[in-house]
Amino acid sequence: MSATAQHEITGGTFGASIPSVVAGVRRAYDSGITRPLDWRRKQLQGLIRLLTEREAELSAALAQDLGKNPLEGYLTEISITVSETEYALRHLVQWTRSTKVPVPLGLKPASAKTEPQPLGVVLIIAPWNYPVQLLLAPLIGALAAGNAAVLKPSELAPATSRAMAELLPLYLDPAAVVVVEGGQEASTALLAERFDSIFFTGGERVGRVVLQAAAQYLTPVTLELGGKSPAVVLDGNFAAIARRLVYGKMLNAGQTCVAPDYVLVTEEAAPKLRKHLVRAVAELFGKDPAKSPDLGRIINEQHWDRLHGLLDSGTILSGGGGDRNSLYLEPTILTDVSPDSPVMQEEIFGPILPLLTVKDLDEAISFINDRPVPLASYLYTQSAAARRTFEARVRAGSVNHNVSTVQLAVPGLPFGGAGASGTGAYHGKYTFDTFSQLRPVFTKGTALDTLKVAYPPYNGLKRRL
Ligand code: NAD
Repeated sequence: MSATAQHEITGGTFGASIPSVVAGVRRAYDSGITRPLDWRRKQLQGLIRLLTEREAELSAALAQDLGKNPLEGYLTEISITVSETEYALRHLVQWTRSTKVPVPLGLKPASAKTEPQPLGVVLIIAPWNYPVQLLLAPLIGALAAGNAAVLKPSELAPATSRAMAELLPLYLDPAAVVVVEGGQEASTALLAERFDSIFFTGGERVGRVVLQAAAQYLTPVTLELGGKSPAVVLDGNFAAIARRLVYGKMLNAGQTCVAPDYVLVTEEAAPKLRKHLVRAVAELFGKDPAKSPDLGRIINEQHWDRLHGLLDSGTILSGGGGDRNSLYLEPTILTDVSPDSPVMQEEIFGPILPLLTVKDLDEAISFINDRPVPLASYLYTQSAAARRTFEARVRAGSVNHNVSTVQLAVPGLPFGGAGASGTGAYHGKYTFDTFSQLRPVFTKGTALDTLKVAYPPYNGLKRRL
């Protein structure tokens, strides 16, 4: 199908082609409706109403797509997005204010300021693993900054995609915020259009496609990609460390971009960690995790097969079971894992935790830095000196001590990768900045022509100054 093919579009433009949908959103932006603070405020309030009034529908969609427990869905998708929106609402006036900048003596009298400007029409492409949060969290900043937006949810979470397409036009201005459903074909058609910013969350492979497509219009791009986020375990309360690792890893059945992908543990700490990890899995998900209402399911058969194939990469310390029909994969701890094994060649994105032993922190840091830059890094230790060494030397999108995954709930922290794990960052004010141009404005009068002193002929300029 060509880029101008018919796609199912919601928001009153059902059946419209992608170019005409994008043109409609651009017309809305060009008309200036998105710029007043009142409009922005109404959109943010609309988002909060959508997430609170329609929580039950969204929870049901998340359960259908990912087997998400309603409380987990609430905490990791709905309430976190509501908090981000409330934060943006609270800071809207402050963020949008212009800032005076001092003018050097030689240019006076004059005034200078910076003022955040919207970028225009932005495209947000989201993945399936947190299909509410990862579609709407970028939108918060896009709207706060006064942009119009086209949203492309993931086709692999179809119930949530449908809910977003149906609900957003009821709560947000349908002229300036449009959802386009579909998979690669819809994305490709969208990427053929001109946008003023593209915000992509997904895998490295599609990230490259997005970057190439953006090049044709020199469109600025934010890439929120994945990667293998390491956890290094040195010392501490091993029962707590194991619970935090198991929680971070098994949340959403391991399908979390910042999940600890693998563990590097010192030989000394390994026996204690192994013992406590097995206990932690039982503590969080019971003796038979298949029966736990708190463990999500794998997104589809293709990913289940891929993950199942990775179970041969080491010795199974616990878990290893699964049921393809129900897309259940048992939380699995692997030991005796070689760095060359299949599980260490790709982002796991499932409930499998490989343990590799290292001599010390030094070896762990070298192991991490020898590989593509991960989205997050985790260090478990009580030693402040070890934490300083880790912070100074490790390359990663973020450094987190004695936790895994929960750092995402701090709106003041920028969230994003570095190197292969992404470009740009968001959350809180950073989302607003991502979708704004900090435009400088300089103003001088003509009554006094003070600039004359600097004009040619330059002969004698030094004397004039
Ligand atoms: P994906 O890259 O396969 O898909 C992401 C989006 O791109 C989807 O909307 C999909 O429809 C679209 N798409 C697919 N093929 C395309 C193409 N050829 N051209 C244009 N668009 C295309 O990612 P996914 O499988 O949905 O999500 C998993 C990946 O996302 C993991 O690597 C994970 O680490 C990463 N991720 C990163 C973050 C983050 O915030 N950094 C968050 C969640 C997931």
